[in-house]
Amino acid sequence: MAKKNEQARCSFCGRTSDEVRLLINGLNGCICNDCAEQAYQITREHFGETEKTKGRGRRQKTFDWSHMPKPTEIKAYLDEYVIGQDDAKRYLSVAVYNHYKRLGQKVDTDGVEIEKSNIIMVGSTGTGKTLFARTIAKLLNVPFTIVDATVFTEAGYVGEDVESILSRLLQVADYDLEQAQRGIVFVDEIDKIARKSDNPSITRDVSGEGVQQGLLKMLEGTMVNVPPKGGRKHPDQDYIHVDTRNILFICGGAFDGIERKIAQRLNTHVVGYNSVQNVARIDQKDLMKYVSPQDLKSFGLIPEIIGRLPVLTYLNPLDRTALRAILTEPKNSIIRQQQKLFAMDGIELTFDDDALEYMVDKAVEYKLGARGLRSIVESIMIRPQFEMPASGEHAFHVTKDFVEHELDKVHISAA
Ligand code: ADP
Repeated sequence: MAKKNEQARCSFCGRTSDEVRLLINGLNGCICNDCAEQAYQITREHFGETEKTKGRGRRQKTFDWSHMPKPTEIKAYLDEYVIGQDDAKRYLSVAVYNHYKRLGQKVDTDGVEIEKSNIIMVGSTGTGKTLFARTIAKLLNVPFTIVDATVFTEAGYVGEDVESILSRLLQVADYDLEQAQRGIVFVDEIDKIARKSDNPSITRDVSGEGVQQGLLKMLEGTMVNVPPKGGRKHPDQDYIHVDTRNILFICGGAFDGIERKIAQRLNTHVVGYNSVQNVARIDQKDLMKYVSPQDLKSFGLIPEIIGRLPVLTYLNPLDRTALRAILTEPKNSIIRQQQKLFAMDGIELTFDDDALEYMVDKAVEYKLGARGLRSIVESIMIRPQFEMPASGEHAFHVTKDFVEHELDKVHISAA
């Protein structure tokens, strides 16, 4: 400490309190604001360098997973938004819970390291794969982005597209690196990058395989140098080093025709001595529930990718009952959304039951699935949406006749 009769000075640059803006007193000395700032820069550079040589990017804080919702709670939340698909809900709830446990693990104490549990969902389009991923991201309040696997063109697999995905994740995380590094990426249409045959020696489809290799790197966990797009917050930094080890990847694909592969596999298996028993147990109408990693390989995914997607689950095609429920039951169902739109104009919107049934019939008839339901509702509601806000009325009731009449005017074609 400076002697009482002497003026206090910065122990680093020697300037007195009159010469600096701020002088902070310590036990045996002082530091001025300029030196403190410089010391901070030196510390940052030092640790930045050490981390880089380790190839690990910024140090991760241990994640407190004990506050995360439990699997049953995750499923209950999914139930509010997604109709049916119970098996998939269970698989996803457990996988997501384990993933966050993994983020909170302390490896050094017992040597056991929980590995990453990326997920793959198999199910035809419009069965709710994206909805699942979206809902989970909403529940966990983590950065979430959707990418289409088909953007991994052969030219792009070298790395550009991987960067752009992570750059998007960073953007949603408002450039909070730690948040982004534990975000969720939904890779849609993963089946579209399957090679055409699972026999590499005969009809090797190199492009499909090359694209898969590109994706593999990202799934495995790697350091990617991401240029900060619109990087106002990092003007002095050229790249952000994003570590993908803790990013959860949820992949989805329709895998059209995979039932045939499943049937083939099951048939070859049932040729044994207990074949009669097995045949009886196989539900021929619902082969999808028997989907296994082997079938994905037969479909043309490379074993390395399958290995990185250890949680495999399936989604059922939506039947009429499911479609009817989708119309009104989910928390943000199509009908509730319409009612909210009208309520904002002070109008109460109601539907006759047979009007709703008729819409579902049309969706089934045209094989439009859940996606088609929305277009049907939109077409029916366009006239009231146009006329009602300025009408001064406070209620609008949709009858079956009205639905028939409005649908007659639009052209909806079968899928
Ligand atoms: P996919 O990704 O499997 O092609 P989506 O998740 O994009 O299908 O589903 C399309 C739309 O259909 C969703 O926005 C949602 O409104 C509706 N939908 C599909 N499946 C369900 C479901 N099981 N429960 C509730 N809504 C569903």
